[in-house]
Amino acid sequence: MGTSPPYREGNEHSDMIVKTEGIVLSKMKYRDTSKILRLYTREFGKVSVIAKGARETKSKFRAALEPMNHVACVIYRKDNRDLQLLSQCDVITPFRHLSEDMGKMRVGLSVVELVDIASHAEEGNEILFSLLVDVLQTVNSATKNPVSALYYFEMKLSGIMGFNPQLERCVHCNAGIPNGLEETGRCVITHDGILCNNCSDNTGRKGISASAVRSLQQMQRATTSESVLHMNLSPLVNEEVQCSLLRHLQHHIEGFRGLRSEEVFATLL
Ligand SMILES: [Zn+2]
Repeated sequence: MGTSPPYREGNEHSDMIVKTEGIVLSKMKYRDTSKILRLYTREFGKVSVIAKGARETKSKFRAALEPMNHVACVIYRKDNRDLQLLSQCDVITPFRHLSEDMGKMRVGLSVVELVDIASHAEEGNEILFSLLVDVLQTVNSATKNPVSALYYFEMKLSGIMGFNPQLERCVHCNAGIPNGLEETGRCVITHDGILCNNCSDNTGRKGISASAVRSLQQMQRATTSESVLHMNLSPLVNEEVQCSLLRHLQHHIEGFRGLRSEEVFATLL
C-alpha cells in the first residue's frame, strides 16, 4: 500500500490512497460482516469509512476499530463520496485504561462524541486533532480527577471553534472578574461569558458560585490537560461547571442537545 501512487490513472485525480492517523469516534455494524466507522483524522478531519469484513473472525483489522482508539490507517479515498473505504488500520497507542475504568471511559466517550458533533465532514483541523489525542492520553494515564480533563477539553474546543467565553471581564460593563471574587457573590454566565456581581443582580437569574467561576477561569487559563488533573471539584461546584460548559456548547453548536454517552452512564453509575 505504501508504495502505491497517490493517483490512479483514468480517474481524473479523484481517487487516492492516503495514509493518516486518526481517532475512532464511533462504529456501527453494517450488513453481515462489515462495520462503518467515523474517524477524526489529522489531515482530513472527520471521515466516514467502511471496513469490509471487519466482523469476520480472521479480520485483518482485529481490535483496532474500537471507539477512542488512536490508529494509523490507510484509506482508499474518492472525492465526493460520503463513505470511504478503509483498507488498513492499526493501533498506534493503546489507551487500555479508557476501557477498563468507568470514570475514564465516561470522559473518553464524551470527548469523542463532542468531536463528532462539533466537526464537519472532511474539514481537517490539526489543532483539534492534537487536542483530542492529548486529552485522551491524559485521561488514560490520569491517577485522579479525569473529569477535569473533560472540562478542559470543552473549554479548549470552544476556543478552537471561535466561541471562547469571556471569563476575565464582565461581558456587559467590562469590569474585571478577579480571582478573589467575593465568596458570597454569584455570577451569571451568558452565552458570551460572565456578568459581574452588579450586572448579574439586574438579570434576576440564578448565578453560579465564586468557586465555580474560579474553576472555569483555571480551565481556560490552563495550557495542558495534565495541569488540570489536580482540580478536585466538590459535587456542587462540579455540577455548576458541568452545566455551564454544556449550556455554552449547546448554544453554539447547532443541533447539539446533550451527550448521549452521559445519558448512558447516568443509568449505569
Ligand atoms: Zn458588569
